[in-house]
Amino acid sequence: MISKIEPEASIRVAIVGAGLGGLAAAIAIAREGHHVTVLEQASTLQEVGAGIQVPPNSSKILARWGLLDQIEAVAVKPNDFRLRSYRDGSLLSTQNMIPHAKAVYGAPYLHIHRADYHAILVREAIRLGVEIVLNARATGIDFDRPAVVFEDRTAFEADLIVGADGLKSRCRESMLGREDPPYLTGDLAYRIILRIEDMKKVPALHDLIEKPNIDYWMGPGCHAVSYMLQGGQAYNVVLICPDTLPEDLHILEADPEEMRLLFKDWDPRLRAMLDLVVETKKWRLRDSREMPTWTHPSGKFVLMGDACHATLPYLAQGAAQAIEDGAALGALLGQVNQTWQISDALRRFETMRKPRTERVVRESRALQDIFHLPDGGAQMKRDFNLTQMKPFEGYPNRWADPVFQKYLFAYDAYEEALSSA
Ligand SMILES: Cc1cc2nc3c(=O)[nH]c(=O)nc-3n(C[C@H](O)[C@H](O)[C@H](O)COP(=O)(O)OP(=O)(O)OC[C@H]3O[C@@H](n4cnc5c(N)ncnc54)[C@H](O)[C@@H]3O)c2cc1C
Repeated sequence: MISKIEPEASIRVAIVGAGLGGLAAAIAIAREGHHVTVLEQASTLQEVGAGIQVPPNSSKILARWGLLDQIEAVAVKPNDFRLRSYRDGSLLSTQNMIPHAKAVYGAPYLHIHRADYHAILVREAIRLGVEIVLNARATGIDFDRPAVVFEDRTAFEADLIVGADGLKSRCRESMLGREDPPYLTGDLAYRIILRIEDMKKVPALHDLIEKPNIDYWMGPGCHAVSYMLQGGQAYNVVLICPDTLPEDLHILEADPEEMRLLFKDWDPRLRAMLDLVVETKKWRLRDSREMPTWTHPSGKFVLMGDACHATLPYLAQGAAQAIEDGAALGALLGQVNQTWQISDALRRFETMRKPRTERVVRESRALQDIFHLPDGGAQMKRDFNLTQMKPFEGYPNRWADPVFQKYLFAYDAYEEALSSA
């Protein structure tokens, strides 16, 4: 176990939630020699969902933690980002990722299955001595003690409590002192995983799987994203379309026929992919609003990850921001060896992280409009810019916008944290 701080100078940190963000914080804080306990409501440690994109701003953190080899062993690196028109799949804009990401930002762009990502973080947290307590569903926070409160077990005391309990955060509601349900975005996602073996049998799909890329199709009110996963054995497809779920249900088994109908006028290759779908689910997409603060006035509690900045997945940056949060919190707590110093570290954490994550939430929401333009003047202007103009600041392919790309990918959470005054 890495231990930079003398045991008597370490603090006790309780993290609520063992998602990607909570685990990242656990690793980063434990690396600094503090004692970390993660309290997770689930009875087993597993991540649901499908693929996840890991951009250079998070892969450079994984590299710093010595985890990149393990991640790369089960990930896929896309060559290019390709934005396409929905009807015929014609290419509107391409942004190179190999060699661009490594050459310019010193870290790769990766695609990984969430379960693999989560398992690697869990293993590393345990290796570093982090305790993970399951079946621990927080019902609130006692901010002054501070302690995590449960209905069915004794409250858990620590010197610092980190609320990393995701979009539907009890910790956030406890801090606000009121209910604060996630906000509707008007969209839902179908999440699909195909077998590459099945795709190989369909000639129309060969050029999509010839080598790893990431493909986006943009169309009226909807978009689709696809990329390879699991060393090229699987293929991840996400379809975004208007939210038609009943008010009280956020995830529902979906009828593949209903899904195919929604995309019946789209690129024949996309339709050929959807023909392979046997079962799928639809997930309501929700996000959050900017909070006045992430830190409780006691100076002993802070929120992070989706609990305070849940975002639409359109920029593929939600988990990356949670990983950045974890890294930044760890780096700042690495300078703490007395409990009275915690509140200052939290103030610095919030000052450095809040503006960035809020911008990512806003930019992700703005992509909803860019991707989903109906056929017509604005769509033609978007496509003209994409096909005829060199990328400029504000370019509709946000990953190719030279200024925004640098803002996203060049960020180093450790450097930022250590240089924050
Ligand atoms: C369709 C889709 C695609 C996405 N694609 C990408 C992508 O490509 N790249 C990317 O960077 N991001 C992506 N995201 C976003 C990303 O999934 C989230 O931003 C990220 O998982 C947030 O991590 P978190 O740890 O903050 O929250 P979560 O992952 O939600 O984890 C919260 C944890 O807290 C636990 N918990 C909740 N309540 C309690 C409680 N009361 N007590 C104890 N434990 C509790 C939960 O069980 C869970 O384990 C995508 C999201 C969606 C919906």
